[in-house]
Amino acid sequence: MALKEGLRTWKRHFRLLFLLIVGLSGLLLYGIPGLRHLEIFIPMGTCPPARMLLLRDNFTGLLRLWARPEVLTCTSWGAPIIWDGTFDPDMAQQEAIQQNLTIGLTVFAVGRYLEKYLARFLETAEQHFMVGQRVVYYVFTERPAAVPRRPLGPGRQLRVERVLRERRWQDVSMERMRTLHAALGGRLGREAQFVFCMDVDQYFSGAFGPEALAESVAQLHAWHYHWPRRLLPYERDARSAAALAVDEGDFYYHAALFGGSVAALRQLTAHCARAQQQDRARGIEARWHDESHLNKYFWLHKPAKVLSPEFCWSPEIGQRAEIRHPRLLWAPKEYALVRD
Ligand code: UDP
Ligand code: MN
Repeated sequence: MALKEGLRTWKRHFRLLFLLIVGLSGLLLYGIPGLRHLEIFIPMGTCPPARMLLLRDNFTGLLRLWARPEVLTCTSWGAPIIWDGTFDPDMAQQEAIQQNLTIGLTVFAVGRYLEKYLARFLETAEQHFMVGQRVVYYVFTERPAAVPRRPLGPGRQLRVERVLRERRWQDVSMERMRTLHAALGGRLGREAQFVFCMDVDQYFSGAFGPEALAESVAQLHAWHYHWPRRLLPYERDARSAAALAVDEGDFYYHAALFGGSVAALRQLTAHCARAQQQDRARGIEARWHDESHLNKYFWLHKPAKVLSPEFCWSPEIGQRAEIRHPRLLWAPKEYALVRD
C-alpha cells in the first residue's frame, strides 16, 4: 500500500517537473522576449588553445581567436568563427587588394520585396560591403526596369538579371539555388572570384569586409546559435533530401547569407537545387525550404569559415554584450505585406 502511495507521489512530482521544464523552455523560446536572453548562459563550447593559436586565414593573416574568450571561435573541423576583435580589418583589406579580387553580391527582389527592401539594401551595401574592393552586384528580379539606379562607388557595378516570378513565395526562395547555379556558370562566374548570396530583407549597418571571404562561408543563425544541437530546426522527415538525424548537424546556418569561391558555390547550389527537385518529385517540401537544404549541404561539406551572428543580426532579439558590432541587420518581417 505504502509502496503504491509512494509511486503515485513520485509520478505526480515527475509529471509536474516535466510540465515545468516544457513550460519554461516554451516561454524561453517563444514567449516573453526578455527570458530569451537566458539562452546566452547555454555554453557554446570553446576552441582548443592549440588550434586557437595556429589558425591562419588567406584573407586575414593570423586570427586572434583568443580575443573573444566568452564565445566559440573555431569549429571542431578547424574552421574559424569570425567575431569582432578576432581579425584585423586593415590586414584583411590589404590581403584582398593584393589578390586583385572581384567580389560578387547576389540578391533577389521579386514581387513586393523589390519596393520594400532593395533600395536600402543597395544603399547600405555601398556604404559597408567590401568598400575599397572591386564589387559587382547581381540583382535578380522579374521587373528590371523597377530596380533603383544610383551612382555607385569606384570599381563597383550593378547588373540586373530577369527571372520569372514564381507563384508561391516558398518557390521564389527555393528557385534562387537553380538561378544562382546558372549565373555562377555564366557571366557572374567569369567576373567574380568570390560571391556572397544574400536575402534582400536586411541592410548593412557596419563594415562587412574581406575578413568574411573564404572558399565556403556559412552564417550562424542569430536565433539559434546558443541552442543545443538536438533542438535545432533542421528537417527531420527522413523522406526529405534535407533530413538530418537527431545526432547530426553542427550549427544551424542562416540562408540569408552564404558565400564562397565560384567553384564551391557552383557545387553548393547544384546540390540544393537537385535536393529540392528530389523532394518536389516526392511531393514534399523541407521545413525551412532552401535553408533546410543548405544546412544539410554544410553538414556534408563543412564550411571553411563561419561568420558569428554579428554578421547578420536580428535587432528583434535586442542588444547582447557578445554581439559587439552588427554588420547586417534583419529588416522587420512584414510577411502580410510582401508575401501573397
Ligand atoms: N524573395 C523575393 N520575393 C518573394 C519571396 C522571396 O524576392 O516573393 C527573396 C528575397 O530576397 C527574400 C528571400 O527570397 O529576402 C527569402 O525570403 P524571405 O526573406 O521572405 O524568407 P525569410 O528570411 O523570412 O525566411
Ligand atoms: Mn529573409
